Amino acid sequence: MKRIKVLVAGAKGRMGSMVVQMVMADQDLEYVGGVDLYVDEHPGSEQPIFKSVEEAIIAVKPDVLVDFTTPDSVKQNMETAINLGVCPVVGTTGLAMEDILIMDRLAKEQKIGGIIAPNFAIGAVLMMRFAAMAAKYLPNVEIIEMHHDKKLDAPSGTAIKTAELIAKEREKIRQGNPAEKESIEGARGGEFAGFRIHSVRLPGLVAHQEVIFGDQGQTLSIRHDSLDRQSFMPGVNLAIKKVIDLVGITYGLEHLLN
Ligand code: NAP
Repeated sequence: MKRIKVLVAGAKGRMGSMVVQMVMADQDLEYVGGVDLYVDEHPGSEQPIFKSVEEAIIAVKPDVLVDFTTPDSVKQNMETAINLGVCPVVGTTGLAMEDILIMDRLAKEQKIGGIIAPNFAIGAVLMMRFAAMAAKYLPNVEIIEMHHDKKLDAPSGTAIKTAELIAKEREKIRQGNPAEKESIEGARGGEFAGFRIHSVRLPGLVAHQEVIFGDQGQTLSIRHDSLDRQSFMPGVNLAIKKVIDLVGITYGLEHLLN
């Protein structure tokens, strides 16, 4: 079987460097190069590191681009990949829904697949699914997401995706006391479809989320913790192998399971 050629954007970052190791350890995949901003500092790698996705694709002709960069870079990287016929697998968060729809249209025009997953950890996908199930019966809910303090976007992509799934299932209510007032701005978190999302940023954390439901005399907490970035690697690996058979953008790892 032909090995899938993989280019990694953000190859020197926390996630990207792990993806490089994961790809190099899989006999069905071939790491053909990376893209990162600090080109000079990539010791110990035989593969080239490029300054731009376009330059890299022209040079190493990958089948798949894995992107773990920044909210500012991801849209351009994805667009370039799709236009050059390379399937993007995107873990970078911060893309707006309208961007995802534009990418989907572009990918369908080019007749290639792409995957955007705000969370590649299977446990997080299950947490989102269970939260959506619970929301049908327990419509009063708040989301608390907790991440390391280097994270750029808030709320996290996982929190937004969870909120979208919950909003589809729960009856449309506006929670809390209509007369409530914040004495410190932001104390009640950000509002999404009538409920609240809170973002915690602290050193020592990796990626964690708790979804809390409340009802008369009871609460239900559904929590997921990524304790190590290894938790994301099986999902990224699966996405690389599936994306080459897809057309259009798939949003969420859950669509690749089963
Ligand atoms: P990070 O350590 O800051 O890594 C990002 C890397 O991308 C850095 O090396 C950065 O270089 C580089 N970069 C920036 N712009 C670039 C461009 N245009 N082309 C190529 N490389 C570029 O961040 P991280 O912790 O790995 O997280 C990366 C993204 O993945 C974030 O959006 C995060 O939320 C997301 N994430 C997703 C999942 C998931 O399961 N989907 C899991 C964890 C994290 P500089 O340092 O020079 O800027």
